[in-house]
Amino acid sequence: MWRIIVLWTVIMGLSTSDMVSYEGYKVFSVYPSTDRHLELLQLSIKQYGSWFWKEPSKLDGEVQVMIPPNQLQTFYEIMHITKSTFKLQIKNVQKLINHTIPENQSQGFDFQSYHTLEEIYEYLEELAKKYPNKVQVVVGGKTYEGRQIKGVKIINHENNPGIFIEGGIHAKEWISPATAMYILHQLLTSTNVKVKFVADHYNWFIFPIFNPDGYAFTFNKTHGDRLWRKSRKPFSPNCIGANLNRNWDFQWNTSGINNNACSDTYPGNRAFSEIETKTMSEYIKSVKNQLYAYIAFHSYGQLLMTPYGYTNAHIFNYDHLHKISSIGIKALQQKYNTVYKTGCIGEFFTNLPSGLSVDYMAGVLKKSVVYLYNLRDKNEYGFLLPPEQIIPTGEETLDSLVAMFIELYLNNIQDN
Ligand SMILES: [Zn+2]
Repeated sequence: MWRIIVLWTVIMGLSTSDMVSYEGYKVFSVYPSTDRHLELLQLSIKQYGSWFWKEPSKLDGEVQVMIPPNQLQTFYEIMHITKSTFKLQIKNVQKLINHTIPENQSQGFDFQSYHTLEEIYEYLEELAKKYPNKVQVVVGGKTYEGRQIKGVKIINHENNPGIFIEGGIHAKEWISPATAMYILHQLLTSTNVKVKFVADHYNWFIFPIFNPDGYAFTFNKTHGDRLWRKSRKPFSPNCIGANLNRNWDFQWNTSGINNNACSDTYPGNRAFSEIETKTMSEYIKSVKNQLYAYIAFHSYGQLLMTPYGYTNAHIFNYDHLHKISSIGIKALQQKYNTVYKTGCIGEFFTNLPSGLSVDYMAGVLKKSVVYLYNLRDKNEYGFLLPPEQIIPTGEETLDSLVAMFIELYLNNIQDN
């Protein structure tokens, strides 16, 4: 057992988070065969979380781990000792990274490629100009490096129930802001009757990038890191950033975190230590009476989840939420046969991540309709989903939201 731990430590410990090139890095799927092996993997996550792409979960035993080229031999040795089944998933991480990075400065906003923070903000302003009676750009918060956290508000009718969409709280999950932008665009332009129904019968608060500093860093070609996840505030000379989705003031720092500031799951040194979560939570509190639902987009794994993360105990209205999300994932599957699972976060992630924005919305602001999506894919490209999948992901995700919010709308009419 100790030999294995030491080996894992060697693999993980030699790697640093400020690496720019991932040339020759590989991603493996590992299938822990025993509880002990799972325990071992979890122990490693605790110490060196940044190298796990997918953490162990009870419901599906697959773990994904990224290994630097000089540690491959050790990795194979561990797999041999633990008699683990594993599969090479990504041959060369850098090659996939290169495919996600847009080659040229974008000529106008499209959904064919990923866009920079500046392009996204510019597009929000453009939409506000194009639909002046409907769309309003809002600065909801600010960042450590002095950027604004911008979103839009679509108010169709003062009394409409409001849906809040959070994107991009984890910097490297580029499909999250891209999906939020796709949905925003469809809500304004679609001629589909169902899409128009939800577009018009709800108000919308859409903030595609909760972590602008981190997002900009993933695009920074000179000293950035495409696989950066956290904020950019230094906690020590070598350890930068808190995980903005572990920093919310509800059950903060209770489980599923790592108090080593270098770790990817570092929750900050207190709840709302990060200006991003602090300012956005204040904004959300200021509009909380206008909000009916809260949706957060992450990647990856194809899961549509309800709170809570910090516990696997069911939230009071779990049955209702589960019924609605089951309708959602069924609708989502129609177009491309993309299969999702639904359940509560704490059931899917055995380490019980705490301090989540969605837990805060349910636990503190008492919002009853709260969901977290882990978008495409299952494991093929992981965080590096090719840009060709932006539109399909947007389409199917919108299909699920439309189905869920029509159902919720009809339920509420019946309730009244
Ligand atoms: Zn995430």
